[in-house]
Amino acid sequence: MTVLRTAKLLTLSAARSLRVFEALRRSEWRKNQLLILAYHGVSQDDEHLWDPELFVSPECFATRMQALKDYGCHVLPLNDALEKLWTKTLPPCSVVLTFDDGGCDFYRRAFPILRQFNWPATVYLTSYYSRYNRPVFDVMCSYLLWKGQDRILDTTGLMTQPAMLQLNNSRVRKNAAHAIQVFARESRFSAAQKDDLLSTIAERLEVDYQTILTKRILHLLSAEELTELAAEGVDIELHTHRHYAPKSRECFLAELEENRKAIVQFTKVPHHFSYPHGSYEDHFGEWLGSLEVFSATTCEPGLATNSSDHYKLPRLIDTSSLELVELEGWISGFSKFLPRKRMAVTPHIPPYYYDMNQSHFK
Ligand SMILES: [Zn+2]
Repeated sequence: MTVLRTAKLLTLSAARSLRVFEALRRSEWRKNQLLILAYHGVSQDDEHLWDPELFVSPECFATRMQALKDYGCHVLPLNDALEKLWTKTLPPCSVVLTFDDGGCDFYRRAFPILRQFNWPATVYLTSYYSRYNRPVFDVMCSYLLWKGQDRILDTTGLMTQPAMLQLNNSRVRKNAAHAIQVFARESRFSAAQKDDLLSTIAERLEVDYQTILTKRILHLLSAEELTELAAEGVDIELHTHRHYAPKSRECFLAELEENRKAIVQFTKVPHHFSYPHGSYEDHFGEWLGSLEVFSATTCEPGLATNSSDHYKLPRLIDTSSLELVELEGWISGFSKFLPRKRMAVTPHIPPYYYDMNQSHFK
């Protein structure tokens, strides 16, 4: 743990004992602040052990929700909260819950817990792998290598340079996953070919892939699940079709349009967006506005205020490594005054879901 993080945790614990959180959460100042929380996945099995930054366990998620309740938070639907933020009519200690990507685990794990609290939520859906309802290639590739970490992988036909890789080292697994993803992309594999590649990896590592598929681990929400969630009042919003924000206006708009078309099959027209990987450019706001998108959220921690840029709204990503006291610091607003490292934004990531029929991705 870094010195800064240790100092922060000590400060937060002291502030909590001195009831500073309690005073702040009820203050007039906090009333004009909106905490937007972001989750990626809630584990169906052991996903939080594979990637604790991407997944939290159901127990951890339930603890977070209980903390919001204990602090008397008003959990609002996204659209409602933003209208109230912009008209300075938010109730005290306002919070919005958002879920990026639209994993099937939202339906199976997060939603039942949300229903116990009777709280609204927004799913920012990336639609390609929702329609082609098979495992998301890049993440499943990494997950399978982790599952087979006590084995040796023969990479013949999986990457450009064949090798025998001992997978018990996390750096080796990370590099191997990257090399396989690059190989699939450069070979211009279709989604079905990439799916075959995953079966081959599982077979070579003797991982029980059928059980993973049956549990629908690392799958996105199906049409049936989306229909049911929308009927239950979950907001389905934009996150691009292929988890990718192209750099040219024409491609960016095409990507959003395809995402929107997929969403309106299940629910109302979406008007809110979250940036894939949290990566954005200043001109994206104008492009989004031209498509009647009213807001966009980033992955930069903070509380949104009336003066926040509508297309750069801060969001706190809640992960397994976030201590409860850190979340409480943000709920009260106290953490806004603590120094923090700026999030590293990945400058350019190719689309996860490269499809050789989509010629507008060059
Ligand atoms: Zn995402």
